[in-house]
Amino acid sequence: MIIRIEESSYIRHTCFTCGMNERPGDPETYAYEGDEKLGWICFSCQELPAQALREKLLEKADYYRDYVATLESLANGPIQVPTAKQLDAMRTQRFVNEVDAALEAADLPF
Ligand SMILES: [Zn+2]
Repeated sequence: MIIRIEESSYIRHTCFTCGMNERPGDPETYAYEGDEKLGWICFSCQELPAQALREKLLEKADYYRDYVATLESLANGPIQVPTAKQLDAMRTQRFVNEVDAALEAADLPF
């Protein structure tokens, strides 16, 4: 992995190494493996030495191993979803609530 400096896009990114969500400024740094752009590197991680970045990557790998195990467990268990009738009832109630709130906010004289 190599960290490269690029011009800022000023678009909010999630840090590839630590997961921090920020709106970057200049300069932005990105992690690459060969020609593949892996992701943005936040300002805190830009300052870290290679060994600290390696440790952050290992922490992230541990996190994703746990996450994958949870996803596989959920996928292999029962999954309960609302019926179309329940979804329709919820949407209708939400619409009624929004209309009621709009009428109340309008403070009509009747
Ligand atoms: Zn970071």
